[in-house]
Amino acid sequence: MNYAVSFRPTPVLPVVESNQVFPVGRIYCVGRNYAEHAREMGHDPEREPPFFFMKPADAVVQNGATLPFPRTTKDLHHEIEMVVAIGRDGADIPVEKALDHVFGYGVGLDMTRRDLQGDAKKMGRPWEMGKAFDDSVPCTALKTVAMVGHPARGAIWLKVNGKIAQKGDLSEMIWNAPEMISCLSRLITLKAGDLIMSGTPAGVGPVRAGDRLEGHVDGIGDLTVAYSK
Ligand code: MN
Repeated sequence: MNYAVSFRPTPVLPVVESNQVFPVGRIYCVGRNYAEHAREMGHDPEREPPFFFMKPADAVVQNGATLPFPRTTKDLHHEIEMVVAIGRDGADIPVEKALDHVFGYGVGLDMTRRDLQGDAKKMGRPWEMGKAFDDSVPCTALKTVAMVGHPARGAIWLKVNGKIAQKGDLSEMIWNAPEMISCLSRLITLKAGDLIMSGTPAGVGPVRAGDRLEGHVDGIGDLTVAYSK
């Protein structure tokens, strides 16, 4: 192939205990999937069906990275999330078949420029500039289903500079993994390589230059990212 501009390789995530890597396709994020977080953002979690937004694949950052503080924000927020990696294409997937489409799981951060997202919400505009910016998806290596099963409960937490900021349990998700896969696959055809970020528990808050974030999901892994001064 003779590319007219420099070719950009597909972003990848490592697979734990494997020499294979997972090619990242599209990244779908579930909004307000924990009741306490929906409430802290001023919404009633009982009345809302799941909704999705996206981030670009090349926003993925490897575990352990030190990142420049993102531009054009004065209110960068952390959102720790379980990441579902899709291993098999599918559309209109029934809930009871949804887990057959999962390759594995990771721990990710849905980094958010909350000020830009807030402005967009107020003006009824798209969220992308609040969500889909450079380096906005730090993520661990993936654990396959064979290694981790399908985690439906277990602690999920985030520490900022060693202090707990977010804490929840996967069992508190309003829409579980099979439900989010099924819902999303009715809107678009899911493809192997897609990631789904499954929403964040309560406790989202600001990140400043020089901060160190440590995230954890029981059984899946630990994520560390630092922001340079
Ligand atoms: Mn999120």
